[in-house]
Amino acid sequence: MPDRLVLLGTKGGPAIRPGGPSPTSTLLDLGGRRIVIDCGLGVSRGLVEAGMPLRELDLIFITHLHSDHVLELGPLIHTAWTAGLDHPVTVYGPGGIGAVWQGFLGSLAYDIATRIADEGRPDLESLVTIHEYGPGLVLETDGLSATALRVDHPPVTNCFALKFEGSGRAVVFSADTAYFPPLADFASGADILVHEAMLPQGVESIVSRTGNGARLREHLIASHTFAADAGRIATAAGVRRLALNHLIPADDPAFGESDWRAALGETFSGELIVGRDGLIIPL
Ligand SMILES: [Zn+2]
Ligand SMILES: [Zn+2]
Repeated sequence: MPDRLVLLGTKGGPAIRPGGPSPTSTLLDLGGRRIVIDCGLGVSRGLVEAGMPLRELDLIFITHLHSDHVLELGPLIHTAWTAGLDHPVTVYGPGGIGAVWQGFLGSLAYDIATRIADEGRPDLESLVTIHEYGPGLVLETDGLSATALRVDHPPVTNCFALKFEGSGRAVVFSADTAYFPPLADFASGADILVHEAMLPQGVESIVSRTGNGARLREHLIASHTFAADAGRIATAAGVRRLALNHLIPADDPAFGESDWRAALGETFSGELIVGRDGLIIPL
């Protein structure tokens, strides 16, 4: 399996629209491990479309508990289980991820018990190990390591950028964050930085469509990063490849790839990848 990144869902926020992109999720194939980062709505479909049999589910990392990053965690694992998953799956998430998983198991208790009794499936709960992590080294095993950095995403305090290192590569995800200069140190020397991004002119368009205008504008500006600033982080980190995801806006026909490129024109001169659902990035 070649090392690669597949952007499965690239829009910021939980809404979905006809023909539009899905909320955030990513597949990282690194050193023979399959790592799913975030489980926004559509992650199961995205993995299947990316050619990954769901029964190969292995490691899952959740950056924070906003629904556009965690809504489909339970349904993904459950769908993998009905597809024949029979080995352990490990989920790393911030404090509270255990309750999310237990709540899902509770909500599907009837179906799960029925399938175990009727179809002879293994016990779903015992296949899954949950680790609640904080900043620092999260995982170090078989040539793969994962490190977390708390970022600035109010009002969520447990939101973590993640760095994966393996087979001689380093891949960094910003998670959701306001402009956060310490990310540059964290991402220093990475082969690729996947950073969230927002277009200033797109924010007004979203605010006018969504119906809770002023509060939404306040949240977006306090908690997310303008595209130019994502470029500043990448440049300060010295990374040559920057992939933008969690795009705000992601599905407004008034804004396209050229707007994103223009927004980073003065802050980043390396290889810029504007995320879209299903995009495969060889590493
Ligand atoms: Zn988000
Ligand atoms: Zn968020």
